[in-house]
Amino acid sequence: TTSSGPQDLVVIGGGPGGYAHAIKAAQLGLKVTCVEKRGTLGGTCLNVGCIPSKALLHSSHLYEDARTNFAAHGVVVKDVGIDLPAMMKHKNGAVSGLTKGIEGLFKKNKVTYVKGTGSLVAGGSGEGRQVKVSLVDGGETTIDTKSVTLATGSVPSGLPGLTVDEKKVITSDGGIALSEVPKKMVVIGGGVIGLELGSVWRRLGSQVTVVEYLDRILTGMDSETAAAFHKILKRQKMGFKLSTKVTGADTSGDGVVLTVEPSAGGEAETIEADVVLVATGRRPFTSGLGLEEAGVELDKVGRVVTDEHFRTSAEGVYAIGDIIAGPMLAHKAEDEGLVSAEMIAGGAAAHVDYNCVPSVVYTHPEVASVGKTEEQLVEAGVEFRKGVFPFMANSRARTNDVKGDVASGMVKVLADAKTDQLLGMHIVGPNAGELIAEGVFALEYGASAEDIGRTSHAHPTLSEAVKEASMAAYGKPIHF
Ligand code: FAD
Repeated sequence: TTSSGPQDLVVIGGGPGGYAHAIKAAQLGLKVTCVEKRGTLGGTCLNVGCIPSKALLHSSHLYEDARTNFAAHGVVVKDVGIDLPAMMKHKNGAVSGLTKGIEGLFKKNKVTYVKGTGSLVAGGSGEGRQVKVSLVDGGETTIDTKSVTLATGSVPSGLPGLTVDEKKVITSDGGIALSEVPKKMVVIGGGVIGLELGSVWRRLGSQVTVVEYLDRILTGMDSETAAAFHKILKRQKMGFKLSTKVTGADTSGDGVVLTVEPSAGGEAETIEADVVLVATGRRPFTSGLGLEEAGVELDKVGRVVTDEHFRTSAEGVYAIGDIIAGPMLAHKAEDEGLVSAEMIAGGAAAHVDYNCVPSVVYTHPEVASVGKTEEQLVEAGVEFRKGVFPFMANSRARTNDVKGDVASGMVKVLADAKTDQLLGMHIVGPNAGELIAEGVFALEYGASAEDIGRTSHAHPTLSEAVKEASMAAYGKPIHF
C-alpha cells in the first residue's frame, strides 16, 4: 500500500512504540502512515523479543515442571521429553498471530501501512516534511507529511572481539531459534535477556554458565531482591562467573573456546561452549534515517535527544521508544507512543512518569520491580521504612509449589518514613510480573503502604503477600 496524498503523521518503525503511536494518532483523527521495513509489524518485541522469548519461557517451564514438580503433586507422567520443532512451531504461531493482529488493527483504525525503509528528506520543517521510502517490493516513494515520528528501536550491541554468526556465537535473535539444545551454553551478560534465555536453554538441558563483568546480576535492580533471585538461579543449577570479562573467542573448532579474565585484570582462563549467547545490551538503531542532514541531534551513546514531550531538535520530528533515553522496554515505548500521539494531535502536553514504569524478568520465579530501589533511597538520603514478606509464609505459594523456588522469594515494600507514601516495590516470586501491577497502580496514585495494607485482598492469593509486605512497612504483618 502507498499513502494517499499528504499525511498528518508518518511513523518510521512499526514496533510497540510506533504501531501504538500510529493507532492512537489515527483514533484522534490524524491521517497516519506507518513505515516498517521488516515485512511484519510488531518490531523487536513481537518478532524477536518479548513474545517469542515468553513463549519459550512458558513452554520450557512446562517441561521442567512436568519433569521435576509433577510427581510431588501426585501427577504421574512417564517419558517426559522435548519436541523442539513443536516448541518452536508454537512460538512462531504466537508471533505470526500477533503480528497479523496488528495489521488488522491498522485496517480497523485506518492507518496506512507501507512496507519499506523510511528516511527523512533533508530540508523540511514543521508544516512540510518529507519521508522517502525504499519499498520492500522494489522502487521508492516519497510521502509528504506535517509530522514524523522516529520509532526505529534497537538492535543487539554485540561485544568487540566476538563475531556473531547466529549459530555458535548468537544474540537473542539466534537464542530464540536454535535448532537443537546445546550441551554447554555460555551467556555473556547477567541482565534480563541473558537470564531469561539462559533459563530457557538450561531447562531444556543445557549446562549454562553466565559470565558477568560486574560482581552482581541485574544491575540497577534492588540489590537485596537481585541477590535473592541469584540464589534461586544457582539452586536451579545455573552457573555464574561474576566479575569476569570475556577477552576473546576461538570458533575454529566444533564449539567456541572463550578466553576470560577477572574484570579487574589477572590470570586468563578458557571456557568451552557449544553456543555462546552474547547478551550484553542493545543499542539504538538510527542508521540510514538521514538524521544528521535533517538536523536531528544524537547523544554520546547514539540515542535521539528529545525533550520531555518527545520533540527532537528538528521541528516536526518526534522520537519514542528504544531510540531515546530510558529503559528499553516495550511498555515504555508504548506509553511514550500514546502520550506523544495525544500531543501531536493537539491534546494536553502529557508526559510519562518513568518512576512508575515497572520492569520484569520472566523466569520462574519472576522478578518485578517499580519505583525506587533501597540503594537509591539511601543514596538520596530519603528516610524510609521497609516491609518484607516472604512467599514461604503465603498460603497460595505453598499450595502451588513444592520445589522450594518460592521459598526464598519475597515482596519488599519501601515507604516514606514520615508520610508512609509508597516509594518502591520489588518482588521475587511466582507471578511477580502480574503482582507488580498493584504496586505500579499504588505508586501512580500516590498511595501509602497503609492504603495497600487496608485494602481487601482475596484469600488465598499470591497478592496477599503484597498486602502483608505493606502491613510490615507501617506496622506488623499477620502471617510472619
Ligand atoms: P522496536 O520494537 O525495535 O521496533 C522498531 C522497528 O523499526 C523494527 O521493526 C525495525 O525493523 C523498524 N525500523 C528500523 N529502522 C527502520 C526504517 N528506517 N524504516 C522502517 N522501519 C524501520 N521488553 C519488555 O517490555 N518486556 C519483555 O518481556 C521484553 N523481552 C525482550 C526479549 C528480547 C529477547 C529482546 C531482544 C527484547 C525484549 N524486550 C522486552 C524489549 C522490547 O522488545 C523493546 O523495548 C521494544 O521492542 C522497543 O520498541 P520500539 O517500538 O522502540 O522498537
